[in-house]
Amino acid sequence: MRKTLLLITILSAVVWGQKLPPAADQKLAHDVYKEMIEINSAVTTGTTTPVAQAMAARFRAAGFPESDIFLGGPVPGKWNLVVRYHGTGAHKPLLLLAHTDVVEAKREDWSPEFDPFKFTEKDGYFYGRGTADDKAQAAIWVATLIRFKREGFKPDRDLIVALTADEEGGSYNGVRWLLDNHKDLIDADFALNEGGGGEMVNGKKISLNVQVAEKYVMNIRLEARNKGGHSSVPLPDNAIYHLAEALTRISHFEFPLKANEVTRTYFAQLAKTETGPVVESLRQIGEGSEAAMKRVAAEYPRWNSMLRTTCVATMLEGGHASNALPQLAAATVNCRVMPDDSPEFVLNSLKTAVADDKVAVKSARSTTAVPGSPLRPDLMKAITRITDSIWPGVIVVPSMSTGATDGKALRGAGIETYGVSGLFGERGDSRAHGQDERMMASSFYQSQAFLYDLVGTLSGKVQ
Ligand SMILES: [Zn+2]
Repeated sequence: MRKTLLLITILSAVVWGQKLPPAADQKLAHDVYKEMIEINSAVTTGTTTPVAQAMAARFRAAGFPESDIFLGGPVPGKWNLVVRYHGTGAHKPLLLLAHTDVVEAKREDWSPEFDPFKFTEKDGYFYGRGTADDKAQAAIWVATLIRFKREGFKPDRDLIVALTADEEGGSYNGVRWLLDNHKDLIDADFALNEGGGGEMVNGKKISLNVQVAEKYVMNIRLEARNKGGHSSVPLPDNAIYHLAEALTRISHFEFPLKANEVTRTYFAQLAKTETGPVVESLRQIGEGSEAAMKRVAAEYPRWNSMLRTTCVATMLEGGHASNALPQLAAATVNCRVMPDDSPEFVLNSLKTAVADDKVAVKSARSTTAVPGSPLRPDLMKAITRITDSIWPGVIVVPSMSTGATDGKALRGAGIETYGVSGLFGERGDSRAHGQDERMMASSFYQSQAFLYDLVGTLSGKVQ
C-alpha cells in the first residue's frame, strides 16, 4: 500500500514536471516578476518608466536587437515598452499585452509582515502590489519571449509584447497612446490580455475564463448647490441633506437584470461545475429565465454585477466651514455598464431614481460602449486542448469582465482581444487593488506553462 502511494506520488511529480516550465525558465519568470513588483509603478505615486527600462535591458541581454525594442510614452514617467519577435510572416502578428502600472498601496494599510513594494514569498504565495494585477502576466510574457528566443523558435507570425502604462486610471493610458501614436508597432491579428483568470472553489480548480467582453465605466457626478448662510440659522433647504437623500435613493435603485450571449454561455457552463441548489438557477439563465437571474444575482455580488449595470457612490465632497450652511455637496457615482446599455440610458435611469431638481445628475465625461470580440475557433480550440492537458476536468468559459481593461481600447481600434491568463485564484479572494495582494506560486508557474504552450500553438509551434 505504502509502495503504491509512493509510486503514485513519484508518477504525478514526473507528470507535473513535464507540465511546468524548465527550472531555469521558472527562475527567469520569478526574477522578472520580483523585479517588477519591487519597482513602485503606482499610477500617482510611482512610475512605469523604470519597469519598461529594466525589461528592455533584459530583452537586450537576451539578444533582441535595439531596432525591435521601443521605449516611450507621452511624459517621462509614463513609458511603455513594445518588443517584437520576428516570425516568418505567414500570418498577421499576435499581440501579448499587460499593463505595468498598479493601484496605489500604502505600507500602513497592509498587514505588518508585508510591504506592498517588496516581493514576499510566504506559505505558497507571492505577496506585493501587482502580484495579481497585472505583473504576473507581464512577467510571464517577458519570460516567454526570451525563452522562445533562446530555443530558436521561429513562429509563423510576429509576436509582440507590449507592457503599458496607466491602465489603472492615470491620465496617459498607455495602450491608447500607442494606438494613437504608434499603431504600426502593436497592430495585430488579435491580442491576448488580462481579464480572464481561472476560478477555484475550496482549492479545486473549476473553470478557466476567456474574457471576450467587458463592462465599461461611467463616472456620474451628483451636485447640490445652495446659497448657504450662517449655520446658526438652519434652513430645511440644505445641500448636504439633498445630496444624502439622493444617494440613499441611488443605493436602493437597481438596474434591470439582463443576460447577453457571453454571460448566458458563462452561466450555462458554470452550471456543469457548481453544486447545490444554485445549479438549476444557473442553468435556467442559459435559457433566459428572469426569475433565475434574480436568484443568482442574490447569491454572489460578482454574479449580480455580471447580470446588470451597477452604480455605486465612491467619493464625497461638500461644505466649506463648520459654521456655514453648505453651498456645495457633491458625490461621484461610479457605474459599470453592460456593453449593450447606452450611456444615455444609465444617466436617465439615475436622474429618474434621484427625482430631485435640487440635485444635478451629470456624466463626468463622454463614453462609448464597445461590443465584445467573437469567439475565434482556433483560439478556443487551443485553449481547450491545453486546459485539458494541464487541468483535466476544468471547463473553458467565455466571460465578461465587470471591471475594465486595456482590451476596451484595443477592441475599439479593431484589434480583437481575449483575456486569458490561466492564473487561478480562489473565488471570493481576489485582492487585486486591495490589501495584501497575492498570487499562488503554483498558479504563477502553471500559468507560465499554459501561456507558453498557448502562444506557441497560436504561432505554429508543433506541441
Ligand atoms: Zn489590471
